[in-house]
Amino acid sequence: MRRVSVFGATGSIGQNTIDLIARAPEAYRVVALTGGQNIARLAADARRLNAEIAVTADEARLDDLRDALAGSGVGAAAGPIALAEAACRPADWVMSAIVGAAGLVPGLKALEQGATLALANKETLVAAGPLALRTAHTHGGTIIPVDSEHSAVFQALTGEDRRAVERVTLTASGGAFRDWPLEKLHSATPEQAATHPTWDMGQRITIDSASMFNKALEVIEAKELFHLAADQIEVLIHPESRVHALVGFTDGAIMAHLGVHDMRHAIGYALHWPERRALPVDRLDLAALGQLTFRAPEADRYPALGLAYRVIARGGLAGAAFNAAKERALDAFIARRIGFMDMAEVVARVLDRLDAAPGHIDAPFELDNIVAIDHLARCEADRVMAQRQQ
Ligand code: NDP
Repeated sequence: MRRVSVFGATGSIGQNTIDLIARAPEAYRVVALTGGQNIARLAADARRLNAEIAVTADEARLDDLRDALAGSGVGAAAGPIALAEAACRPADWVMSAIVGAAGLVPGLKALEQGATLALANKETLVAAGPLALRTAHTHGGTIIPVDSEHSAVFQALTGEDRRAVERVTLTASGGAFRDWPLEKLHSATPEQAATHPTWDMGQRITIDSASMFNKALEVIEAKELFHLAADQIEVLIHPESRVHALVGFTDGAIMAHLGVHDMRHAIGYALHWPERRALPVDRLDLAALGQLTFRAPEADRYPALGLAYRVIARGGLAGAAFNAAKERALDAFIARRIGFMDMAEVVARVLDRLDAAPGHIDAPFELDNIVAIDHLARCEADRVMAQRQQ
C-alpha cells in the first residue's frame, strides 16, 4: 500500500486528487489531509479515507475540526507548525496543493523525508526553486510537476536528451479578459476576473489567469524545473486550451502534449509516475474540435508576463519577492482596494524598491532569507498601495 498525503485537500486540485485516490482505496493508506477554512469537507474526506490526521491551517478552527472528527479515530491538528509536522510524517507520495507561499514549508518538509512530491503549488519553485531542488537532491526526494503545462513538458521530455531542447512553449487560455477592449480592463471586477473561459480552478489562480500572473509564475517555474534560459521560454495564447505545452528540439521537431481540460490527467500522471495507468478523463475529439489557434500575448494587456522575464534576469531571491508582492496585490484587488491593472504596477514598484536595496534579493538561497524577503515584499506592497491612495 502506498502512503499518501494531500496538502490543500479541500481545494480544486486537492479534491481532484482525492477523487483518484478514492477510486482505489485498497491501493492507498492516507496519512494526512490538510485544508484551511472548509472544515466540513476536510473532516468528511478524512473520515471517508480513514486518514491518520487532518490538519487545518487555521488555529482558531481546531475545536471545529475536533468536533467534526469526533469518534472517527482520525487525529486533528491546526496551524502552520502542525502543517509542517504533518509533512514530516512518512509518506511515499505527497500532493502539494496549498495555494500561495503557505505551501512552501510543507513541500520542503515532504522532500526532506525523501517523498515524491506532486507539485501543484507553483509558488514553491517560484520563491524557492534552487532550495527545493537542492532539498530533493540531498534527501532523495522527487518532484513531479502537476501544473498542466509543466506536466506536459515533463512528459514530452521523457526519454529525450535535455541538451537537445531548443525552446519550451507554454500555452495560456488568455483568461477572462482576453477579448475585452483594453480600456475596459481598468474597471474589471474580481467576480468578472474569477470566471475562466476553459478551466475550472480555485478563485485566486483563476484571477491570476486573467492577469497572466499565473503564466508569469509558470514561466519562472519552467525555468527552475527544466533549467532553461529566459529566451528558451515562450508563451502563446491558445484559446482552446487543448495543447498544454510544446517542446522544440534542435533538429526542428516539436513535441506537443494535448488533452482535455481535466486536472486529473496531470494529477494521475504524477500519482502513477513512472507508469502510465488508465485515468477517468474524457478523450480528446480533434475532429469535433476542428481547429486549434495560437497567437502571441499583447504586452500591454498582460504586463505581468514581462515582469516574469525581469525576475529571471534579476535572479537571486527576486522570485520570492515577486510572488509575495503579487499575493498582496491580489488580496487588495479581491478586496476592491485596487483595480485589476494596478496589480502589475504595484508588483513592478515593489521590485523597483527591492532593487534599490539589493542586499535582500542577493542573500543566499536559504529558507530564512526567503521568508524574510517574502515578508519585506508584502510590507513594500502595502506601502506602495497606501501611497497610491494618498
Ligand atoms: P484552491 O483555492 O481551490 O485550494 C487551495 C487549498 O489551500 C485549499 O485546500 C485551502 O483550504 C488551502 N489553503 C488556503 N490558504 C491556506 C493557508 N494559508 N495555509 C494552508 N492551506 C491553505 O486552489 P487550487 O486547488 O486551484 O490551487 C492550489 C495550487 O495549485 C495553487 O498553487 C495553484 O496555483 C496550483 N494549480 C492549480 C490548478 C488548478 O487547476 N486548480 C492548476 C495548476 C496549478 P480551504 O479551501 O479549506 O480554505
